[in-house]
Amino acid sequence: MTGTRPVCNHDGMERLDITLVPCLRDNYAYILRCGETGAVAVVDPSVDVPVCDALDEAGLTPEAVLCTHHHGDHVGGVPGLLRRWPDLAVHGHASDRGRIRGQTVFHEDGDTFRLGTVELRVRHIPGHTRGAVAYAGAGEVFTGDTLFQAGCGRLFEGTPEMMYRSLNETLMSLPGETRVWCGHEYTVANLRYALHAEPDNAAARERLAWAEAERAAGRPTLPSTLDDERGFNPFVRAGSVEELARRRAEKDVF
Ligand code: FE
Ligand code: ZN
Repeated sequence: MTGTRPVCNHDGMERLDITLVPCLRDNYAYILRCGETGAVAVVDPSVDVPVCDALDEAGLTPEAVLCTHHHGDHVGGVPGLLRRWPDLAVHGHASDRGRIRGQTVFHEDGDTFRLGTVELRVRHIPGHTRGAVAYAGAGEVFTGDTLFQAGCGRLFEGTPEMMYRSLNETLMSLPGETRVWCGHEYTVANLRYALHAEPDNAAARERLAWAEAERAAGRPTLPSTLDDERGFNPFVRAGSVEELARRRAEKDVF
């Protein structure tokens, strides 16, 4: 069970143990555990069964579900988790009221809350959807379908301006060493496009070779860091809203 072992620790005052749970075809849910108190939350449960199995295997009881946006492949497992743990707090953006079944916490940009002793901050990052949020804390950020490794989400509800601001202002205001945990394993395809956009990008070339080997070995390619993304992500590296829009349109048909 490669996905159910805590794969990382942040060596700060606050620590989150993060377990990556592969779901559906290429989705990732995450189990977060406060390193000090053992408090547990689940990020983006696409489906309930693999998440419950991972929790059971580790003997964990969650107190919260953190939803990055309302799409079914991120919240489809919420009702099943609520049947098992009816007191779960279900977090999402205020504007997703009515779109996330079971939602109990309605956030605005900048809200903070605690998982044990770890402070998590909600950042509103519209672009993929209008209610998309990231959860950041303890040196980690969960970005859903807004920032992928070497990519960004499709603009289903937002504009290129929104995506540009969400990526380059909101997310990139976090420390560069922050680790990025995104919603899908799209890294290899994203890096192939990155090299199309910037054929001379050595960081993208190197990361692609590494990512192909990891996938061939059945391992996830996550996380990256925000500094990594500055080096190879063609949407973070777009110098203007117009360039981001052009690359987003080009990638849609790549
Ligand atoms: Fe989505
Ligand atoms: Zn998704």
